[in-house]
Formats: sequence, C-alpha cells, structure tokens
Amino acid sequence: AKAAGRNTLSFYEPGMDGIVADRTALERDLSNAVREGGFVLYYQPIINLAADRPCGFEALIRWPHPSRGMVSPMDFIPLAEDTGLIVPLGAWILQEACREAAGWPGDLRVSVNVSAVQFQKPGFEQAVIGALAAAGLAPQRLELEITESILIADAEAAITCLHRLRSLGVRIAMDDFGTGYSSLSYLRRFPFDKIKIDRSFIRDIADPDAAAIVKAIVGIGTQRGAVITAEGVETEEQLACVRQEGCSEVQGYYFSKPLPAQEALDFVRKPARA
Ligand code: C2E
Ligand code: CA
Ligand code: CA
Ligand code: CA
Repeated sequence: AKAAGRNTLSFYEPGMDGIVADRTALERDLSNAVREGGFVLYYQPIINLAADRPCGFEALIRWPHPSRGMVSPMDFIPLAEDTGLIVPLGAWILQEACREAAGWPGDLRVSVNVSAVQFQKPGFEQAVIGALAAAGLAPQRLELEITESILIADAEAAITCLHRLRSLGVRIAMDDFGTGYSSLSYLRRFPFDKIKIDRSFIRDIADPDAAAIVKAIVGIGTQRGAVITAEGVETEEQLACVRQEGCSEVQGYYFSKPLPAQEALDFVRKPARA
C-alpha cells in the first residue's frame, strides 16, 4: 500500500507533496493534542432579549498550536472527522463544557456543538450522559447544537436519538439554520427546542430577501414552540432588525466575542449592552 501511495503521489504536481506532508503533520499534531489535552474552550454569551441578560454560552473550541498559532476549528474539525479523532475530542468537549457550566451561577446553559460524525457513532448518548453525571450538571442546562446534516445518513436513527436526549431533559438546537440542503419538511419530523438562524442571513438583513427568510424562519419556529436565536449580530442596526422580526435571543460580536472561561463569568456579572 505504501508503494502504491508513492506511485499515486508521483502523478501530482510537485507542490502537492507539500500539501500532503502538511496534512500528515497536522494529523499527527492533532492526534497528539487529543491525547495530551491540548485544547481550550471559549464561551460566547447568548443574550435573551426580553430579560436583557445572558441566558447561556456557546462553547467554541480553540487549538493553540505551538508553531502555527491558533488553528481555527474550521480547519481541524473536518480533519478530526475524517480521522475519527472527533470521537475522543467530542467526548472531551462535552466533559469540559459540562464541568465549566456546573460552576456558573443560576440557570445559565451551555451550548455544545456536535459534529454529525460524532452524533452518528454508537456511544454518543452515553458520552452525553457520562459528561452530565461527571460534572453533576442538570440535563436542562445542556444544549446540543446539531446541523441538518445529521439527518442525511439515517434520519430515523437520528430522530430516535434526539427524542431520547430530549427525554433526559437535554435541549436540541438546530445550528446554521437555512444553509443546509434540508427541506422545510424535515422540520415536521425533527424534534428541536431552538433554531439558530445562520449568520449569513443576519449579515444581509438590510436586504429585503434576507429579511423575508428571517421572518419565515421565525414564523415556522415560533409555530413549533421553538426559541429563535440570531447568530452573528455585529451592529446596532442588525440587532434592531432581528428584534423587530421576533428573534428572542441573539449572539454576536455586538455583545461579545467568544471569551476564555474566566472572562465569560465576568461578562455575566455586568449588564448586557442592549
Ligand atoms: P458555529 O457553530 O456556527 O459557531 C459560530 C461561529 O461564528 C464561531 O466561530 C464564532 O466565533 C463566530 N461568531 C460569533 N459571533 C460572530 C459575529 O458577530 N461575527 C462573526 N463574523 N463571527 C461570529 P468559530 O469559533 O471559529 O467556530 C467555527 C465553527 O467551527 C463553528 O461554527 C462550528 O461549526 C465549529 N466548531 C467550533 N467549536 C466546535 C466544537 O467544540 N465542536 C464542533 N463539533 N464544532 C465546533
Ligand atoms: Ca454552533
Ligand atoms: Ca452556527
Ligand atoms: Ca456556522
């Protein structure tokens, strides 16, 4: 297999070797970092507009790499998915986020991103239950952010798993809503508590087409009893628009970037900007 690999490589342009070598090196570093615990979670406040205060935080992973600097999750999550490293990494994310949230005041929730690959692996539900138990966190304070892509492989199995998680008390948020390939008909079969409207619609909300899509998502979500969160709110104008369209929660740089755990706690203690 090794010889075949070398032969295959010889068909590529010379520069390709560099890319392949780089990916191999990154994969090795990723594997080491998973084993040695080389990641941190940052937390971005989610603001409840009616209460005018944070109702929780989204956990966002960061990889401080010794020579590459901060590697973006957009660059290593896909690699972790391809290599299967997402399973131990995802388990760590759940444990760490639950542990942190158990120290937060009141009823603040933590929202954890779940990769479709991680979700579909057997043992996912146990990983969630284990993380909650180890942290002593009430299931009601954990929210899992999933995307429509979990429905592609085996929609029936995914829906069953979501029902089981919800019956534990865990909340389900549909992330990046509006960007996937799903049709609206999925919404009828898919159990969820929250819809997060993708940043691309919020960025363009001054455009009547984008505003109409936001309005439609709010209408359908509200009809289903879901909370609607606007992602990526950066300006006062965008905030006014999403409020006007009926979003009940907002997240974005206008309020705060993702913060290290200690700074996230400091944020809770001071009033929101709205
Ligand atoms: P996402 O789940 O949609 O997360 C929101 C992303 O938007 C985050 O980028 C956040 O920092 C960024 N963001 C928040 N507010 C604003 C804003 O006002 N303006 C702009 N321009 N950006 C904003 P980040 O942390 O780089 O994460 C990127 C993606 O990587 C996430 O998108 C998610 O898909 C994935 N990801 C991050 N952390 C995890 C994780 O722990 N597990 C998994 N499976 N995926 C993760
Ligand atoms: Ca998310
Ligand atoms: Ca999102
Ligand atoms: Ca996104």
